[in-house]
Amino acid sequence: MTKGINYSVKDIGLFDKLEGKVFVGKDLGLTGTEVSVSKLAAGTASPFVHAHKKNEELYLVIGGKGMFYVDGEEFPVQEGSLIRVAPAGERALKAGDKDLYYICIQAEAGSLKQATREDGIMLESKPSWMK
Ligand code: ZN
Repeated sequence: MTKGINYSVKDIGLFDKLEGKVFVGKDLGLTGTEVSVSKLAAGTASPFVHAHKKNEELYLVIGGKGMFYVDGEEFPVQEGSLIRVAPAGERALKAGDKDLYYICIQAEAGSLKQATREDGIMLESKPSWMK
């Protein structure tokens, strides 16, 4: 874990090193989102269906293939799939015949008041690779 005044870095390891689900928001000091990184071993599934009271979720599949369940519908997902689920969506996942790796970002639905174009600020400082 490395921290500066305006940043924090945590190496959780991926693929061979990752087991189960790791929530990183508290360690990193996130204040507007919760983020988890998960591995579902081949042939296994999330043990329950869940929804949320306020938070929407974005699932980013970063490895493997599997099935996603939302509100009684099932569809295949794979590396590169992005799945947004509204708070009330009843969701679950299942890995295929290979391990399934995904990142889940949750934030309160409707809470984003500005995005990149409105919030980003171009600055003059430069890292060594821009000089
Ligand atoms: Zn959730």
